[in-house]
Amino acid sequence: MNIYNCHTHIFTSANSPNDLLKTRIPNNGASKIIKFLLDSTPLKELPVALAKLYKVLAPNSQAMLANYANFLRVGLLPTQLDILNEEVKSFQLGSDNWVFSVLTLNLDYMSEKGGNFVKYQEQLRESVFVKAKYPNQVKLFLSVDPRTASSNTQLLEQTQGNWNKYENAFSGLKFYPAMGYFPSDTRLDGVYAWAAENQIPITTHVTRGGNFYVGDMRKLLADTSHYNLPANTKCADLINAVTLNINNGAWKKDENRIGTQLFTNPEHFKTALENNPNLKINFAHFGGSNEVNNGVNQTGIPGSMIALEQLAGLTDFTTNIISLINKYDNVYTDLSYTICDNDALKKVAGLAQNHPKLNSRLLFGTDSFLVLMEGNLSKMIANSEANLGNSLFHNSFKVNPITFFNPY
Ligand SMILES: [Zn+2]
Repeated sequence: MNIYNCHTHIFTSANSPNDLLKTRIPNNGASKIIKFLLDSTPLKELPVALAKLYKVLAPNSQAMLANYANFLRVGLLPTQLDILNEEVKSFQLGSDNWVFSVLTLNLDYMSEKGGNFVKYQEQLRESVFVKAKYPNQVKLFLSVDPRTASSNTQLLEQTQGNWNKYENAFSGLKFYPAMGYFPSDTRLDGVYAWAAENQIPITTHVTRGGNFYVGDMRKLLADTSHYNLPANTKCADLINAVTLNINNGAWKKDENRIGTQLFTNPEHFKTALENNPNLKINFAHFGGSNEVNNGVNQTGIPGSMIALEQLAGLTDFTTNIISLINKYDNVYTDLSYTICDNDALKKVAGLAQNHPKLNSRLLFGTDSFLVLMEGNLSKMIANSEANLGNSLFHNSFKVNPITFFNPY
């Protein structure tokens, strides 16, 4: 029986703009040191610089730096194949019955300025090479971003073009809306219909953390031509509120980190699911551990995105995902990154008791190598089993992924 990791990344530092690393660093405490180092130290020398600092810091900061040093050690490996091999090793599987879903990521539109890094088509070419090395064990996902095309038909042609160009290489599509687009963008309509018709799985990033668009949010939101949002919907209200907060400088310090949560909201997939009820889609991270832990009870800090969502009558990401799972037959959620929070895992086990359909819709995933920032991966996997309980862990690790990936 195969064991599945439904959410991993293997892009290298050469595939990433410098901005990518900066968006991963939390905006608090010890992270200030890492931010300073990022700005002042060549990337290659960072793990050494962190190791030196390690000895002089307080225990909490020490642990954090040790995790970052390990994360950077893996992230700075020269090839995608090296990174995958390292991930497989850190999984401590003791068998070759593993299947990893490798999600490629188009980072070309992360900002307006582009930057000096290996662009997506080249990242993809290398990912396909890794897939060829492990044809039965790697499930490769093709990144989709509507900004790569000017129309619905052009985006569909381009996506199908990539899909067919590398014959039998792909098992699904990867969305990352926080990079700066709405999943309700009309240019995606053809891709949704094609994916639904062919049962091609989509994995989309749903957590308030992670990477995000670092360009000019005002400009991005001003181009309303592609939103495809009916007037007077909750999302339209939310977009107006976000635009207002950005224009009046309310989020000056953290404008993009907060503002880009707007794109992530599962609410933006409702039209696609109404039009294509059998669309197969995995809302990754189950909304993130904070959302899982606090759900509808989280109080929106005044001026935060959560407060704006509550004002617009929207529920938290996790509750929204559960209602979509209950309503549609092909909606899934994965636990990647959320596995590093034991409280969240216990909460997930409780949610599965109240919402039995979750037992067949939960997918196990790690978000390696990014999750290495939080600690030891094999320990997280053992904790997942302990906190989810054997049956839910077994289903998400070995059973549910089979239907999610079928027939790819
Ligand atoms: Zn991820």
